[in-house]
Amino acid sequence: MQLKIYNSLAGEKEIFKPILEGNVGMYVCGPTVYSNVHLGNVRTFLSFDFIYRSLTHLGYKVRYVRNITDAGHLTDDGDVNNDRFVKQTRLEKLEPMEIVQKYTVDFHKVLDMFNLLPPNIEPTATGHIVEQIELTQKLIETGFAYESNGSVYFDVLEYNARGLNYGELSKRNIEELFANTRDLDGQGEKKNPQDFALWKKASPAHIMRWNSPWGEGFPGWHLECTAMSTKYLGETFDIHGGGMDLKFPHHECEIAQGKACNGASPVNYWMHANMLTMNAQRMSKSTGNYILPMQLVSGENDFFEKSFHPAIVRFCFLQAHYRSVLDISNDAMLASEKGFSRLMEALKILNSITPNDEKQSGFSLDDWKAKCYDALTDDFNSPVLIAHLFEAVKFIFALKDEKETISAQGLEDLKSTLNAFVFDVLGLQNIEENNNEKLDQTLQVLIELRNQARKSKNFDLSDQIRDKLLAEGIELKDGREGTTYSIS
Ligand code: AMP
Ligand code: ZN
Repeated sequence: MQLKIYNSLAGEKEIFKPILEGNVGMYVCGPTVYSNVHLGNVRTFLSFDFIYRSLTHLGYKVRYVRNITDAGHLTDDGDVNNDRFVKQTRLEKLEPMEIVQKYTVDFHKVLDMFNLLPPNIEPTATGHIVEQIELTQKLIETGFAYESNGSVYFDVLEYNARGLNYGELSKRNIEELFANTRDLDGQGEKKNPQDFALWKKASPAHIMRWNSPWGEGFPGWHLECTAMSTKYLGETFDIHGGGMDLKFPHHECEIAQGKACNGASPVNYWMHANMLTMNAQRMSKSTGNYILPMQLVSGENDFFEKSFHPAIVRFCFLQAHYRSVLDISNDAMLASEKGFSRLMEALKILNSITPNDEKQSGFSLDDWKAKCYDALTDDFNSPVLIAHLFEAVKFIFALKDEKETISAQGLEDLKSTLNAFVFDVLGLQNIEENNNEKLDQTLQVLIELRNQARKSKNFDLSDQIRDKLLAEGIELKDGREGTTYSIS
């Protein structure tokens, strides 16, 4: 089985060859933790969660690094008042690191809700200031960067003069770039408008600042990813991912920094996830065209007619390929909900099927499995994979209606393959089972509280717990083994 990955740098699908056989080093740009992540951000992280799960399922040992951007980085106009962290600190009257903590916690909670696996390493930009200063020094020493008024810039023209190609990822031509740039960031400090900051001098208003050989300042955004990916995955590693919008300038700058520092291309496969749109426009905080994950899940919003379970949102996202734009809508969510229920129902039915070794069925399990793996290894094509899973769903319903048969071994094979694709690879969760588990845990807590009430002779309370549960159709029975319950 050969895995094909669309490499944004090559502009085509390529056969994946890891640097170290059987191992994959993967870096994904994480969130800037100055406010809550919106559903669009979730889509990108979910796309890479699916890719991580797929690589693991295919047998690779993956080291997955996803950073947290917690150091202030300037917006395009270079005005400190527009620094996202500084703005939010003023707005919420909190310390910068309080903002970081608050939104990092929120980010983790949200991803947990959508059943994303944690990365193996989650480094922070502020935890790697020393590495970023070292890289900046190296770039100055080798002539790729220069200091100007307490800031340090990467010299893009020098980079190209040495036969390298700034613009190779975004397929931009440097002359065009120069023609289209206004020199606002840097305000006359830079040799050329396309030069980007490696280190920025902190103005008196800037709260997040560190000492450096160039005075007090803070690192440029592009540099943190080079510092952290190199530290944990090496000077050249297998996969680098992020949203499409990060291709330029962020990833273009990462390539330039890596090549200038180490003389080698930092990444073998660049992967870019496409955007989530709403009302046919990119979801974004700045335009106000966004929805927060909690608003969708709780139903507290004006866009969707009802609430949707996170597993259904996840299923909806995976019904589009990670490189396609996905427009979220009420109809799309309702259709996903229907499909999801049918898939879960089929899994339930599968547990009650009786095998029949005598009759032969028309459904070839081997062919079906091969098609599923072809989809997965064809640049992680989740919609095609899901379409194949629904062929199995159709077959399961036919088994139930006794229009098809399956052998005992086939049944085991179908069960384990389908479960692996649905739960391990797609990362879906069985809502019903989950709810049952939660209910059981809650009832155990109530039983424990009732026991404590009885022990302290608070029979009023213990009777109240029993009677109120009974009114809800839950009967508690006290026996020698302890208290059990039955639900009518
Ligand atoms: P940020 O915190 O702004 O750096 O964004 C975190 C991630 O979300 C980046 O990889 C962005 O490319 C991605 N992202 C931002 N907006 C969207 C969107 N509308 N759809 C999908 N991904 C997005
Ligand atoms: Zn990055």
